[in-house]
Amino acid sequence: MEWEIVVGLEVHIQLLTQSKIFSGASTAFGGTPNTQACAVDIALPGVLPVLNRGAVERAIKFGLAVGAEINSPSIFARKNYFYPDLPKGYQISQYELPIVEGGRIKIQTGNDINENTKIVRLTRAHLEEDAGKSLHEDFHGMTGIDLNRAGTPLLEVVSEPDMRSSMEAVAFAKTIHSLVRWIGISDGNMEEGSFRCDANVSVRRLGDEKLGTRREIKNLNSFRFLQQAIDYEVEYQKSILENGGEVKQATVLFDSGKRETHVMRSKEDAHDYRYFPDPDLLPLEIPQDLIDKVMKSMPELPMWRYRRFIAQDVDEYRTFTEEESRIHSKHPMQLSPHLMDYGVEEVYALSKYDATMLTTDICTADYFEEVVRIVGCKNAKLCANWVIGEVAARLNQNDEDITTSPVSAEQLAELLLRICDETISGKTAKDIFGAMWHGEHGASADAIIKAKNLKQISNSDEIRGFVDTVLIENPKEVSDYCKGKEKAFNFLVGQIMKASKGKANPAQVNEILKEKLDRKKCE
Ligand code: ADP
Ligand code: MG
Repeated sequence: MEWEIVVGLEVHIQLLTQSKIFSGASTAFGGTPNTQACAVDIALPGVLPVLNRGAVERAIKFGLAVGAEINSPSIFARKNYFYPDLPKGYQISQYELPIVEGGRIKIQTGNDINENTKIVRLTRAHLEEDAGKSLHEDFHGMTGIDLNRAGTPLLEVVSEPDMRSSMEAVAFAKTIHSLVRWIGISDGNMEEGSFRCDANVSVRRLGDEKLGTRREIKNLNSFRFLQQAIDYEVEYQKSILENGGEVKQATVLFDSGKRETHVMRSKEDAHDYRYFPDPDLLPLEIPQDLIDKVMKSMPELPMWRYRRFIAQDVDEYRTFTEEESRIHSKHPMQLSPHLMDYGVEEVYALSKYDATMLTTDICTADYFEEVVRIVGCKNAKLCANWVIGEVAARLNQNDEDITTSPVSAEQLAELLLRICDETISGKTAKDIFGAMWHGEHGASADAIIKAKNLKQISNSDEIRGFVDTVLIENPKEVSDYCKGKEKAFNFLVGQIMKASKGKANPAQVNEILKEKLDRKKCE
């Protein structure tokens, strides 16, 4: 039997604000339990919520970044349920008229960066408050309640059921994760719970129109768990259906140790929550000038930066695809504000692969462009290779990210300039980079080149000397080459480089060696 997998995600994003969504208490992570919970957060009688403007601005920023509608008015609603970590007995959320409606996200669905992309539609994104935390450990057999998290602002993003595999679901979650960090509305810290997903999963017979019954996996806080949980759920649902059973709608939890899901509660519907508009909060009106202000604070979005990185010239960069035009017509300013307002016109003609790697997060993109600014646009490919290659490899090895890289963009640029002006070869540059990484000579390429005497030998007389010596010392390889064995050539180049302690200009070595060997061939 052929089954089709259907997944829709709900992503909870903690918004980066100083204070909570309806009170002035701090949102800082890791405080002593219940030291950051004020009268509003613990729901003392008579308190009233006051909406945090910063949370609203961040929600608007997200909406604009995905080409969605910003609703005005939008309405706050009470979602009623009873749980010890929810002091009011209801969560303030949004139900009808969420602040953000619609929008779309482009995801990468396969390994082939050139081909496999897909548009996932967003249903909505709404503002809500987080609940507190129940602490089940270390309480002498009792459960403790920490209300520091109660009232932390969340943006819940809900997708349409457009994903067709666990891999697509992970790609979607990663794209949202990268976007919210890019536009600076969340730190996306998954260990601290700032980014959590619920996955709604169903299966149906291939070709069926009607969606299957879904089960919702709650609170997945890593991409790996998201993938594993969906994979398990799909196998589970298929086996039920193949044995003639029926999937029952349920909310489940993923046990990452056993890699299984377990029912937490059976089907619950919106009416179970008795949503109603919160009488303590007025409908939220958003004036156009607030939207304009948020738009002006938007960085160049990853999709625009990507297209600028791959464009061959400015004309190509300015010619839009249908999808881009669609977003443009909805939010004209969304179209690469930096191009329109600040005249950033650098294009680099990079490959799609390079551009994808360089735009996974804004700090990497900034770092790259800072390097190119110094080294020059015509060497953009060299800069991209180094940022994606050496720099990324070292960062990975040391579990660091670009913001804490021991080699700054300026320092890397200094090194790459020495490759460009042929002071050093690419190979020597790698050794120098290693020394820079460990902070030798103030991580200055020029200082290291000088101190270690690594300047490339580009004097052809000197190189001829090395070539002649090596040709005399390796008669067998020379005669092999003359008999047509091309491989002997590389061996000889290696010997010459070695003789020069790696300092001979490789291009010149090749040229001079070829010239001399060809002359020998004719003899
Ligand atoms: P709630 O979970 O609050 O009841 P919805 O019913 O609107 O909200 O659905 C929430 C999520 O479930 C959305 O991401 C939606 O795309 C997804 N979804 C709805 N129906 C299905 C289905 N049959 N299979 C998979 N996902 C679904
Ligand atoms: Mg749900």
